[in-house]
Amino acid sequence: MKELTTTVVIVGSGSAGISAGFELYQHNIPFVMLEKGDKVGGAGKFGAHGVFAINSKQQQARRVKYGYQEAFNGLTAYNHNFVNGELLSRFLKASAANIDRLHEMGLPVTVEQSEQRAHLNDPLVYHKFNQMREKMANWDQLPARFAEKGNRVLTETSLVDVDYADGLRAVIAESKDGERLRITAKKVIFADGGYSGNKAMMAENFVHAEDLLNLGERKSTGVGIQICRRLGATSNHRPVLFAHGCAPSYQINPMKRDNAIETLTNLPLLWVDKTGHRFVNEEIVYDFALWANAAHNVGNRYYLLVDQATLDRFKKETVPLEDTFERQFCDVGQSPRTDVGPLESIQTDFDQGVADGVVVKADTIADLAEKIKVPAAALKDSLAKYNAAVAAGNDDTFLKSKESLQFKVEDGPFYAVIEHCATLGTLNGVDVDQNCQPLKDDGQPLTDLYIVGNNVSGLYSDSYPSYEGIANGFAFVSGWIAAKEARLSLEK
Ligand SMILES: Cc1cc2nc3c(=O)[nH]c(=O)nc-3n(C[C@H](O)[C@H](O)[C@H](O)COP(=O)(O)OP(=O)(O)OC[C@H]3O[C@@H](n4cnc5c(N)ncnc54)[C@H](O)[C@@H]3O)c2cc1C
Repeated sequence: MKELTTTVVIVGSGSAGISAGFELYQHNIPFVMLEKGDKVGGAGKFGAHGVFAINSKQQQARRVKYGYQEAFNGLTAYNHNFVNGELLSRFLKASAANIDRLHEMGLPVTVEQSEQRAHLNDPLVYHKFNQMREKMANWDQLPARFAEKGNRVLTETSLVDVDYADGLRAVIAESKDGERLRITAKKVIFADGGYSGNKAMMAENFVHAEDLLNLGERKSTGVGIQICRRLGATSNHRPVLFAHGCAPSYQINPMKRDNAIETLTNLPLLWVDKTGHRFVNEEIVYDFALWANAAHNVGNRYYLLVDQATLDRFKKETVPLEDTFERQFCDVGQSPRTDVGPLESIQTDFDQGVADGVVVKADTIADLAEKIKVPAAALKDSLAKYNAAVAAGNDDTFLKSKESLQFKVEDGPFYAVIEHCATLGTLNGVDVDQNCQPLKDDGQPLTDLYIVGNNVSGLYSDSYPSYEGIANGFAFVSGWIAAKEARLSLEK
């Protein structure tokens, strides 16, 4: 086995890991960073568009009234008090300084109005990366900066275990070729991003996990969480899925933006669940987290129903409905479109969708019901009620607005797009104290260990709250907290 010696090992180079590395780099504490992938990154690099903060300089300049009291009370209430209050407090209080750090790291952000239509009137708390491409390129340059001070970033090298007896002795890693490495170190920070890439852990925690579409970091398989649990850390918290949007498949999802099936997915059309019933006001599409929660609640799968006349209209016309993801893909300062179409490729895309099995086509409702295995009587009844609501411009059950009641579903051929609840990750793991140290049942922290970002429990009761940028903001701040605490403990 190869051997190395350092002071701190950081596992993962996503938001939490890179942030921890920056703190140690600035204070000249030697470290080794392990990254399973062939580049630094994680969901924080390839996915996240921004971070939450309160009282940043930019917010102060814009006289934002929303501060600590509103955020602390708001999040505590939203999560029905299932929160780690001290950790939440520490995160919120450090969130403004985190914005300055992001600039120092070369990952600048600008406070912007929400990316979600449902939150356009929310307080200004979302700090968006100025440019996604620039962010990714600058992230990739951080290892070279770290290396200037003798630190090492080992890519294609994964955490597999620790040697621990009343304190850390060494971290055990493995290269992609299976070669083991023993890194003698004083502290370790687990920033490996949760467990959404671990099928067994997902199935253990979420019913119908097979119907979830994982758009998160698949390399995150819960290794840090499992090690902490094995060493006695508590994980007395309900599972928290980072449900966010819905999509038909990995090929057709909001990250791609190249398919008319995806565009229709992102509009408030007609949806039914596995029982053939409507289950929500489809305008929930304009709130990513709540949209996905509604799908999660009906077993992670629902059907979007349209008929041929609807496809034909989208093909020829500009339709006054906004694609819910439109604003997310605008750079800072760019104006979003509030309509869609004409979608010239819609028929080709749907025909291909039928061939690929993501869309089901049938001439009659009875046939469609049989093909998607929902009860025909319920489906017919749902369509009759929905068509009546469109005709009257009044949905007296789910209260969808008149503007969204544009398309009846009445003449075949009919199409059902199979939609899945998408997930950007998981947001529970082990319980920690305010220093991000894993806690044992007796309330004592596990010495020398820190666990951060998507790996920890304590910020959310059961789902991602509609506070944009909070997961990523917390990941950066928790990595910073852990590195700072490790440093202070070493300096004692
Ligand atoms: C598409 C997408 C969009 C998102 N948008 C937002 C947003 O706008 N706002 C927001 O707040 N949040 C957003 N998120 C969530 C946010 O990105 C995460 O909450 C955040 O990145 C979590 O940080 P982390 O460091 O815990 O994990 P990550 O950033 O995912 O980093 C984990 C790292 O650990 C590495 N790793 C895993 N296992 C090992 C191992 N055994 N050994 C070594 N390395 C390992 C991984 O390869 C990865 O690089 C988004 C996520 C996705 C996927």
